[in-house]
Amino acid sequence: MNYTFIHENKEYVLSNDNCEGLFFEDENEITGLSFDIILEALNNSNDVNFSNEYYVGKCQCGEQEKINKSYRYLEYHFYIYTKNNTYVINTISKEYENTSFNKLFNLGKVDDSYIINVTVCPICGLYAIEVSQCTV
Ligand SMILES: [Zn+2]
Repeated sequence: MNYTFIHENKEYVLSNDNCEGLFFEDENEITGLSFDIILEALNNSNDVNFSNEYYVGKCQCGEQEKINKSYRYLEYHFYIYTKNNTYVINTISKEYENTSFNKLFNLGKVDDSYIINVTVCPICGLYAIEVSQCTV
């Protein structure tokens, strides 16, 4: 699965080939969460909008301009909810439109939440996905 988007007239394709990795905070992997699930979530949503964010780490291409001790990336994030450390739903899906974490929590369907950060180098298109525990 690929995900394609346009930012400032440049096309970026997120695929298996240019992914630096799927990183879990504290190496705490979530059952059922994969690259394909994340790229599929992006593909199925109309709300995805990458914006400029600045981080101290430089991409391995070495081509980014240094701006105030940091480097520009394109970033988009959304949330996923889990139950017993297993993926249940993401917040940009159609299934999520008419519900909320609290509703699902009260129904016993979810018990934890994570933020998915997708960070893309604007020069070479290399990207990374970070998954971190995050209280709603
Ligand atoms: Zn790069």
